[in-house]
Parts: sequence; structure tokens; C-alpha cells
Amino acid sequence: MKRLSLLGLVLTAALVLPTATIGARVRTTRLSTVAFSPATTAAKASASSVITAAVREAAERVTAARLKEDLYYISSDAMAGRATPSPGLDATAKFIADRLKAAKLKPAGDDGTYFQRIELRSIKVDGSQTSAEMNGKTFKYGDDLLVAPTPGSASGQLVYAGHGWVIKSKNVDAYQGVDVRNKIVIISAAAAPPNAAPTEIGKVIQDAESPVSAAQKRGAKGVVMIPRYPDLAQWWAGRRRVLERDRFGVARFQDRDAGDTPSALPTIMPSEAMLDQLFAGEQQGGAELRRNTVAGTTGPAFDLAATKSLSFKVSVANTTAITQNVVAVLEGKDRELKKEYVAIGAHYDHVGTGRPINGDAIYNGADDDGSGTVAVLSLAEAFARGPRPKRSILFVWHAAEERGLWGSEYFTDYPTVPLNQVVAQLNIDMIGRSRKEGDANPKNRGLTGPDEIYVIGSKLMSTELGSLSERVNQSYLNLKLNYFYDNPNDSERLFYRSDHYNYARKGIPIIFYFDGIHEDYHQPSDTADKIDYQKMEKVARTVFVTAYELSDAAKRPTVDKPLQMPER
Ligand SMILES: [Zn+2]
Repeated sequence: MKRLSLLGLVLTAALVLPTATIGARVRTTRLSTVAFSPATTAAKASASSVITAAVREAAERVTAARLKEDLYYISSDAMAGRATPSPGLDATAKFIADRLKAAKLKPAGDDGTYFQRIELRSIKVDGSQTSAEMNGKTFKYGDDLLVAPTPGSASGQLVYAGHGWVIKSKNVDAYQGVDVRNKIVIISAAAAPPNAAPTEIGKVIQDAESPVSAAQKRGAKGVVMIPRYPDLAQWWAGRRRVLERDRFGVARFQDRDAGDTPSALPTIMPSEAMLDQLFAGEQQGGAELRRNTVAGTTGPAFDLAATKSLSFKVSVANTTAITQNVVAVLEGKDRELKKEYVAIGAHYDHVGTGRPINGDAIYNGADDDGSGTVAVLSLAEAFARGPRPKRSILFVWHAAEERGLWGSEYFTDYPTVPLNQVVAQLNIDMIGRSRKEGDANPKNRGLTGPDEIYVIGSKLMSTELGSLSERVNQSYLNLKLNYFYDNPNDSERLFYRSDHYNYARKGIPIIFYFDGIHEDYHQPSDTADKIDYQKMEKVARTVFVTAYELSDAAKRPTVDKPLQMPER
């Protein structure tokens, strides 16, 4: 499961990201305001539900022993934490595909393969070709300046434009009294526009022009963005982060998002030392500017000395990589209903390697989401051996979930089967851990017990789906289904943090199976020896029978409570 992303991180990231990406991030954060229709009527489980002996027998093909064997393999150190993209992730994809082939499941990726290819693109600043110069003095990339990864160059006189925002409806215009045409605009990233809360921009306030695009519209050639004070003060930490981080994104998303955003102006961020030089001899000096930005006041716009001329060049290099979702279908037996699909999914990626803890740098991701990956594989194999359900079953192993649900966004935006024929999606993300009796570790407080699982979202969109899920469980293993996270005010925002979310946003009712946050969540210690395989077996069998009943039901579950999602 994906880490919780916070607004603060988004704002900091906005500093060094191109406009298109900022737009995309902001769109994502807007979802925080989504109001669920409360699940008022707890779906009453109907008394009788008969799960046939044949279906029970099929479910019992999912065994703890097989789950364990598979999980030890895909979460071994050899897979190096299955980062997207990485050889370990590709090896896991091949492992899944080989097994699907052996089970004679139909490939449903690209061109008759099990793989839906996803091109990733990394935009990296070429530091050797990136620099700035003012009146003969050279500034070095990294030491003196950082840049947004938008290639280009600019030269000209300098204008200071304070916070840089223009919001006509709020009487805000940072460019009053100055002409920025053919010049370089200096903007203080620290300051929010007056009379407007940042959270209102784009939502309540529709006419806000952001600093860089306002500068661009007024004919500026480039931007010097004064970093927020904490970023300036921690220049070296930020510098390392920016220089070392890979900037992979999904190429198709980048191209799509760039389509509705004009290409941004080349933008540099000066260090304290460079800032002092830019403002030497001006009505506000560098130190004064910094004090003002801390206080949140930026002062009026003014022209810097006409004798100063800054020029800079930003050079970037693109590299690409390929990753993939793994997709298979079991065709249903009913001539009509087989056109519809019950989707079952998990993410097979994790976060790769990282900061060593107790000398271990491999984040094995056994529970997250090795457990879901091997559970879906066992389900696929169990389904393949029959009895064949009426509707088709779609199996998707998503990549890049940990990077921001990219694989599921890709699959639902560019589906390989008609998405409106997908009647429900069952997402398995972390089902292998259970809270031991007497465990006093506060980090395991939210972990479910050996016969318990969080079931998230089952009642949020479709009363029928929620009641089918309960009915099946009651007449089968009768696990404790915990609905704690079916809460629109959940501060963990779990509904948004795994792949089912991307199906839900397309109107597909979902169920998310999850064991809870625990001490080894996103740690190198999330390893296969800590898994409760008996629990995994029970949950996976429950998902099997739920999927089977869904695929055999006379009608697809009605969405009677659509999620109130804002537009993307
Ligand atoms: Zn995770």
C-alpha cells in the first residue's frame, strides 16, 4: 500500500516540478474534500446463501503451503524489493506470466501477451549543461542554484514581483507597476497570495493565475523562484534530494497532462549566496527578503538595477524504461454474461532498496503486497481448474502502486477489456499479517487478528455488493469483517491509498481487503517469515468464493451510491 502523502510534501515538491506535474499533484490533493455518501443502511445479510460443494472444493485449492512457497520466492532478496522499474519487478512479472501460461489462462495484455507495457520517462537535469551568469560572475548548478526540469534558456534584466500571483476576483496583482516583458521575473515561492487560502485555489477561486504562468502571460523570459525559507536554510539536504532522485513518470500521463498546460518558463532556484548577489545594492537586500518571506510578506514589485543582466540555461536529459501490468482472463461459460468481468487485483511492486535499517537495505515487501500478489496468483490457478463461472474473471497485477497507483491508473485509463463491463473490482493489498495475542507494540494496534480482516469500501458504492460480501462470508468461513475504515473522515485516507481507488473513480464498485498498518509496514523487515499463512489462506479463499458468487449472480451489483468524485 502506498504511503500517505501530505499536502506539505506536495507544496515543497511543487517548487521543483514542471507546471504540468504540479497541476497533476494539485488535482490529486483535491480529492481530500470528497464526501462519501454515508453508508446509512448496514446491508442486511440475507439468511440463506448456498455455496456449492464444487465451489468450496475449488476454493480449497488455495493453500497456505503454496502461498508460502510463492511468497518466499517473490519477496526474496534476489528480487531486491521489486521497485518500479527494476529487474526484480520484471522477474516477478515473468514468474506470474509463466504460471498463468501453465494454468492456460488467457493473456489479456498487449498483442496477445500477459503484459500491458507502460513506458516510463525520467527527466533528469543535465548539471554539466546547466548554469547561470550575471555580469561576468558564474553560478554553478547544485552549489548556487537548482532548477525546475523544464529545459530552456533566458537572459535579460531582472524584475522582482513578490508573491507573483494574479487573482482578479480578489484584487490581487503582483505585477502592478512593473513591466516584465523580455525580462526575468524574481518570485518568492514562500508567500501565498493575499486574500486567498492556498486550498481554495482552483476550487473556490477559479481565476487564479499561478506565479509562473502569470509571468509567462506577461511576456517574461524566465523565472528566479526564491525558495521557501526552510528549503533555503536546508539547501544541502534539498540539493542532495533533487540531484539524486530519479524522476520517473508515466510517459503517457506526462504527454496527456502537458496537453492542457502551456510549457512552463525555465525556472531556477537561487541559494542564499546567489540571492544576496542578485539583490546587492537594491532597495531590499537578500537578508531582508529572507526575513520578509519568513514573515509571509513580500512587498511591492520593483525593477532591479538596469545594469544587472542575468542569463541562465537549463538542460535536461530524458531516459525511458519499460514496466508492465500483468493481465489475464478466465473466460466465463455463459454466452451473454461472459462479456462481463469480475476483476481481481493486487500490486506486485514494492519500494525496492532504500535507507538501511539494522544493516538491511532491501525492502522485501512480503506483506505489502507480496501477499496480494501470490494470493491472486493462487486464485487464478484455482479458477482455471473450474468449475467455470458464468461471468469472466479478470486478473490484474498492477505495477508502480507504491509510486502513486500508476499501474492501476494506467489500466483503468487505457483498459485492455471494456471497463464498463467490469462489474466489480476486488483488491487485495496486504493480507498476510495478524496481531498476536498480548502484542503490546503500539505500532500493531491497528493490525487485525488471525480471523479478521479490514474490508474497505464494500458498502460505499453498492449496497448489493456489500451484502453479497457479508452473505458469502457468513455462509463460508465467517471471518470477522472489520469496517473501521469505511469512514469518510479516516485520517489515514485508506480508501485512496491502493489500486481499487482507480476503479472506483471510474464508477466500478470495489472491495479492498487489508490487514492493517503494522510495525514492519514499509520497512526492510516486512519479510516472509513474519506472515500468518493460515490467515492468508482464509482471506484468499473468502475472496475466491466472493468473486465466484459475484460472477454467477443473476445481475451485476447496482451502484446505488456513486462516489462524489471531483473531476480529474
Ligand atoms: Zn506499500
